[in-house]
Order: sequence, then C-alpha cells, then structure tokens
Amino acid sequence: MCGIVGVFGNKKAAELATLGLFAEQHRGQESCGLAVSNGSYIKLHKKMGLVKDVFTPEVMEGLQGNIAIGHVRYPTCGNSSEYNSQPHLVETLYGPVFSLASNGDITNYNELRAFLENKGVFFHSYNDGELIIRYIVYKLVYEKQTIVAAIRDLMHAIKGAYSTVFMMQKEMYIFRDPNGIRPLSIARLKDDSYVAASESCALDLLGVEWKREVKPAEIIRLSDKGMEVYENDAREYRANGNAHHCIFEHIYFSRPDSFEFGQNVYEVRKRIGEELADCDKVIPDVVVPVPDSANFIALGYAERKKIPYEMGLIRNHYVGRTFIKPDQTIRDESVYQKFNPLPNFFQDKIVVLVDDSIVRGTTLRKIVKLVRSKGASEIHLRIGSPPVRYSCFYGIDTPTQSELIAHQKDHQEIVEYLGVDSLMYMDLEMIRRVVPDPENHCFACFTGDYPVELDQEIAKSIEYKVWNFEFQR
Ligand code: SF4
Repeated sequence: MCGIVGVFGNKKAAELATLGLFAEQHRGQESCGLAVSNGSYIKLHKKMGLVKDVFTPEVMEGLQGNIAIGHVRYPTCGNSSEYNSQPHLVETLYGPVFSLASNGDITNYNELRAFLENKGVFFHSYNDGELIIRYIVYKLVYEKQTIVAAIRDLMHAIKGAYSTVFMMQKEMYIFRDPNGIRPLSIARLKDDSYVAASESCALDLLGVEWKREVKPAEIIRLSDKGMEVYENDAREYRANGNAHHCIFEHIYFSRPDSFEFGQNVYEVRKRIGEELADCDKVIPDVVVPVPDSANFIALGYAERKKIPYEMGLIRNHYVGRTFIKPDQTIRDESVYQKFNPLPNFFQDKIVVLVDDSIVRGTTLRKIVKLVRSKGASEIHLRIGSPPVRYSCFYGIDTPTQSELIAHQKDHQEIVEYLGVDSLMYMDLEMIRRVVPDPENHCFACFTGDYPVELDQEIAKSIEYKVWNFEFQR
C-alpha cells in the first residue's frame, strides 16, 4: 500500500506535496520522497522514514519549484530499502528528465522487465514504479511515441494496479489503471494550480475549488496550456469489461474522510455496521470498536441496534498500524503499547467488539485477552468483512495464504483461538450490498477469484506469495 501526490503550477509545490503526504502517511510509513521541478531541472529527495522526519525545514529549503510529485511507501513488490523507494527519476542524454510515483502492484512484472532488459534497458531497483517509468521512457526514446501514446501502450501491456503521477521539467501526467483498483483524485485550487492525490482527504486542506476522481484509464496532462483530458474507453483494456475497485480501501485502508469509487468511505463503513447489526441476534450492553478503522463500522452497528457505542479501547496513535509493520516480533510487542482499555469499563459487561477484518488473528487474540482480563462477561466479535482467505497481488501487503488464519482454521477453531464467545463475519452477499455497484469491485482476497491477470510466476506463488523478485532472479 502506498500513497501518491502531485502538484502542478504552484510556487509552493513542495510544501503542498508534503502536506498531502502527511495526510496519506497511513498508506505507507517505510519511506517517502519528493521530486520537484523548477522548470529546468528536477531535484529528488527520498529516504527511509516518516514524512515529518524526512522533510525537515533544511531539506525543504533545497526543494524549490512549481511542479512536484511525492510518494509514501509500504513495500509490497521489492524489499524495504531506499533504492526501492519512490519517486523514480530517469535522465536522458537528449535533455528531458522524467520522474514518476505510483501506487499499486504490477502483476506481469517479470515478463515486462525481461522484455525491457532484452532491449537493453537497465534497472536500479525491483520496484513496480521503476518498471512503469522505464517502459514509458523506452517507448518515447526508442519508438518515438508521444507521451499519451506511450501511456496508452502501457495500459495494454501492463497488468495490475497503478494510480500514477508522471512529470517532466515543465509538465505532468496523471493516470490510473483501466480497472481503477486504487483510488486517485484531482483538484483545482483557488489559485488555479492543480493537485492530485491517492486519497481526497489529502486535497481537502489545500483550498480546493473543485475536485473529482480520475477515471479508470483516463490520462490528464497539466502544462502551460492548463488541463487537458485524454479520455480512453477503459473497457478496451480490461479482461471482462468491469472496473475492479479494491473493496478493502473502503473497509480498512483509506481514511474515513476520503471519497473514492463514488462513495464516502465513512458512509460505506457505517453501512457495513448496519448490515452486521441486521443479521445479529446478540443484544450486548455496549458496542466497542477496535480503533480506528472499525470506528464507523461499530457506529453503524450501534445506531442500527440502538445500543450504546463506547470507545472502550484507547489507541496510542504514536505506535504504527499493526497490520503494516513488516516484522512479526515488532507486531506482537506493539499490541499492548497500542491499545489500552478504559479503567473499570468492561467489568461484567456483554460486549460486542467490532473490527474491520481478521488477517493473522494475532493482534485480535491479544485484544480479546485484554478485554477479558478487565472483567467482560461475554465478548462477541463482529467483523466488517468476510474471512480473508487469499493474498492480494494488487498493491496491498496481505501475508502469504498460509499465514491467513481463515485459510488455516475453520470457524470454530478461530473462535477458540481468539477466545471469544461468538464470532460473526460479513458474508460475501452482505459486503456486496454496501456498495451500489459491486460488479465494479474486487473481492479476490475473500473469493480467490482474481479479476486481473497474474503472470505465471505469481500464479505459481499464490500459496506462498513469493514477492521478493531479487531472490527469484
Ligand atoms: S485482493 Fe483484496 S485487498 Fe487486493 S485489490 Fe482485491 S479486494 Fe483489494
């Protein structure tokens, strides 16, 4: 999971891009970077670490210009290292310099990288974003295509998810894969500059005049001519005609104040809670979310059942998201640092505890133990998604299939492992009802029905999710 930002035509481009990256920090905490153009050359600064630590006032001093793109990264394809961080920069002998930041995973990475390497293209990393920029630059330099033609060519050749910002010294292109798997929005600010971001929440703090989502397969060019839109019929590029927006963006990843895939995230989460409540016979004393992503799911549940909603667990926001810490040891230790129950709150209460999903189950098991130790008489766990049984190959770092608890254990075994009195998930029909156009969404981590082609290496590795291309090669 990653977040991207692009700013065009603003003399404070780097500052605005940094603000956008702050708003998207939840999408990736391993590394971050900015590429900034002053019209003549592009300066790149990227490092491991959080936005607040990497972009110090001294660093920002050196990033002057009116075009900027930025990226926050959580590694999925390619390991956690600075050379796999984004944006990527490619310089050419004949003058133009290109930079690119992208969110998503390419599912035919090996095949396309081999194609480019056979043509003499040299790679510095094992990151999807570098494959996209190298592909475009190859088409420009060796096949003399226009940039729009090169991006259209890329949309035919590359499979997977890629919400992308691409810049040269004087212009910027914003485009999204034909399946629209990851979100991407664009806004015009009151001073006529433009900002694009993975999540609309990153645009809201910038004085927006209008904003909208970038359509699947759409290409937007920003230059001294203003904004030009190159419409493409996304269905021409898709395997089965439909879009495949990631349902997990609504369930867990995106901020509730974002608008994406035509829906407000918080409204979708509340509808999930209402669906759960409608199917649940338990009458608890209190409904408690596992904060923060389950807050609105629990609110929808509590309002529908007319049961008190209480923030019985307090989250320490200065400990990273448990799900996106890559190391199991760190994850285990951070649970108790991260959640603390209110004093004397759970004693003798029947609790409906609400979470968005169960992945490995290790964190939830500890939370349940914590709540039980504070005197809860019954704990009924309600989950805002169906069981996660399959890995994601479109830009989310879910674990290998064999690590997913719903893949290893049956319902009763999970109940016993977690130590709850009862457990209820959304079923597939329920989760399909929370969006108005389920046919345009991806549910593959519940069904194993992958809507966008996987290359042979990935298809073979589904069980083990071998993602580190450095070791494959
Ligand atoms: S497999 Fe799951 S996490 Fe991945 S894009 Fe599809 S719905 Fe989203």
